[in-house]
Amino acid sequence: MAEVIEKWADGMALKVCSDSTFYFFCRDGYWKKCNMVKVGRPEEGRRKYLSVVWMKNGEERRGYAHRLLAEAFIPNPGNKRIVSFRDGNSLNISLDNLFWADASDLKRQKKVFQCTECGKKIVYSQKEKVQLCRTCMQRQYSRRRSEKTSQKKEQKLEEFKDLLLRANISLDTRYVRMHLAGYSVTEIAKCYGCSKQCVSAFLIHLRKKAEKLDQLRPLPGTATEEEQPDIREDDITITRIKDLGLAIRKKRQERGLTQARICKQLGISAEDYRNLETHPERYPDRSKVWDVLQILNVNLFVNGRYFGQEWFPEYSR
Ligand SMILES: [Zn+2]
Repeated sequence: MAEVIEKWADGMALKVCSDSTFYFFCRDGYWKKCNMVKVGRPEEGRRKYLSVVWMKNGEERRGYAHRLLAEAFIPNPGNKRIVSFRDGNSLNISLDNLFWADASDLKRQKKVFQCTECGKKIVYSQKEKVQLCRTCMQRQYSRRRSEKTSQKKEQKLEEFKDLLLRANISLDTRYVRMHLAGYSVTEIAKCYGCSKQCVSAFLIHLRKKAEKLDQLRPLPGTATEEEQPDIREDDITITRIKDLGLAIRKKRQERGLTQARICKQLGISAEDYRNLETHPERYPDRSKVWDVLQILNVNLFVNGRYFGQEWFPEYSR
């Protein structure tokens, strides 16, 4: 038979039994068994406790089961404040698992783990998930961070490389090869015997140049290598998009066409056409540039690469 102690909690009569069951005296005038619920912070690794539930004036009240049990059955001569669990399992509320303790008692109870990385002993009280010592944890953290940084750097270089390729700029240009290989500006400068500023200024300039040239780029999902037509003797072949204006001008003169005639055919003003012929790569409606090439009956090749109609969308960016 379980030992039963009647006590008051929260102004209510409670029966605390040594077999870890609880009863409260309900309004109907008889003892009713209390329900138990698990309570505790939801985070993983946090302790959960059993809570005894009773009703007072139609409201739900709770008290920690281990505490009620210890107060009822376990003597506490030292007036200690904490009820603790011998096996560390806070859901095991059998009487022989409970004992009164204070903070200094619990310190001695702390568990000793071994760091899975370096084997060093680590002492923690509750975090049973801990597997690494402080040093190894910090090392792991900084390693992860540097991995992330280098990934970002690689991605940036890859983007730069793509940009250069789109702009038809050779990857063998001066510092570019070293830069793409991941060398720092300082290392490149040392290698070439020039200043850091010289290298970084060059790379910045190159990026700007490439971005400008890249504005003449195809719409996505077009132009495959096989579609390249052969270069005819009459075609415009240039190495830099910048030279397109000059080439168009030359072709137009070869064909004996005036600016006035072409702008009429294109349906744009003479001034617009002048702008187009000076800087076709900057002309906002690139389809007009394409039309000019059609009027001149030429194909455009930049560095041997065919620039088909897909490179000349109506309005870009
Ligand atoms: Zn360690």
